[in-house]
This record gives sequence, C-alpha cells and structure tokens, in this order.
Amino acid sequence: MYISYSRLSTYLSCPYRYYLQYVEGFRPPANALMSFGSSLHAALRDFYSQDKIPPTLDDLYAHYYRNWFSFGYRSRETEAKFFQEGLSILEEYYDRNIDEFCPALFVERRFQVEIKGVPFVGVVDRIDRMPDGTLRVIDYKTYRKNGSGLQLMLYHLALEKLFGYPPEKLLYYFLKEQETSSVEVNEEALGEAQENLVRMKEGLERGLFLKNKGLNCISCDFQRFCELEENGYPEENL
Ligand code: SF4
Repeated sequence: MYISYSRLSTYLSCPYRYYLQYVEGFRPPANALMSFGSSLHAALRDFYSQDKIPPTLDDLYAHYYRNWFSFGYRSRETEAKFFQEGLSILEEYYDRNIDEFCPALFVERRFQVEIKGVPFVGVVDRIDRMPDGTLRVIDYKTYRKNGSGLQLMLYHLALEKLFGYPPEKLLYYFLKEQETSSVEVNEEALGEAQENLVRMKEGLERGLFLKNKGLNCISCDFQRFCELEENGYPEENL
C-alpha cells in the first residue's frame, strides 16, 4: 500500500471514486486533456535535460514532436487543434524563459519516502539547483485551475526526507497562462498535509469508501456507474 498525491486527492474528493479506480481497477477512459498535458510535460522534461546551451526553439519543438501522445482525441481535427495550441504554448514558454535557461538538477525525479509512517511516492517535474545552492521545485500544470498547495507541501516534506534538507522554493508553472505561482511553506499547511496522509491511510485500512456526492460528481468518470448502481441496471443488461 502506498499513497501518491493523485491517489490522495482522489480519496479526498470521493473515497468511493478512489475505491472504483484503485481497488477495483476501473480505468477512466483516455482523454485529450491528459494526453495533451503529458506531451507538454515530456517536451519540457527533455528540454531541461539536454546538454546544448542555450537550446533553440526548434530543439523544444523537436522534443514536442517526438513526445506527442495521440490517445484520447475525438477526431484527427481535434488532435491537430491541440497540437497547434501546444506549439503556441511552447513558443511563448521559450520566449519568456530562455534567457535564464539552465539544465535542471533533476527532471521527473521519482521518490519513495515515509511520512508519519505512511509510504508516499511521487514524481517531481523539475528540481533546479539555484546559484546560492538552494533547491527550487517546479511543477507544470497545463491549466491554472489544476494547482493545489497540498501537492507542493507534500513534495516539500518528501524532498526534505530524500535530500536531508528541504527545497527553498516551490512553484507551479501554469503553461496555458504562462504564469507562475509560488507556494509559501508554513507549519500549519505542512501539518495539514501530514494529517491528510495519515487519515487516508487509516481510511484505507478500515475500508472506508463512502460516496461523497456533490459538485465533484460532475467531472467524475464513474458518474454513470454510480447512477446505475443506485437506480438499478436496465433489465436487458441483467
Ligand atoms: S459519481 Fe460522485 S459519488 Fe460516484 S464515485 Fe464519482 S464522485 Fe463519487
């Protein structure tokens, strides 16, 4: 049993959704936004791990072409539209960030640590060594609405365990908006992050998978499944 940030956020939004996805193993269908986000992430991963300094915009495009994921798009036209949007996002990203380009200390750094007795795993998009020797963590989000302070608090705790000292800066980079947002570390938020982990571990051990019906159902891939379960399956399917 291990917990990652995405497992934790699923459990916090609806324990039953967690149950369906991670215990029963129902897979949400591939979707365009996930593929698109993965393509941008992979392009930036390769951009920051190359030796050529400074890399050109064509280098960044080449990483994008090579890492393009075609899953989950409804049609070739939709895929082409997303692809073009990705080129624009990366061009703007390049213009804004190339002057301070420096290869990352780590990209997609995997970790497995124990926090308050809870096995916690994750992958950090990018870790930079700053000129003063401190560490900076950057997590890319395709869209602004996807950032949550909890994730970076947990990364702060995990990297402190991993390296013996915590990162000095924690940042989200919202790609579509080309904005950054730094998360301030404070004892209260760190304590809350740890409590969430412990509460989830206890919930899993006790088999607590209650439904949390509400606004989160709107974006849930298992909505139809839940409705059928509550209202009964059509007779022809029995
Ligand atoms: S539809 Fe709502 S209650 Fe059902 S699993 Fe999804 S989030 Fe939970």
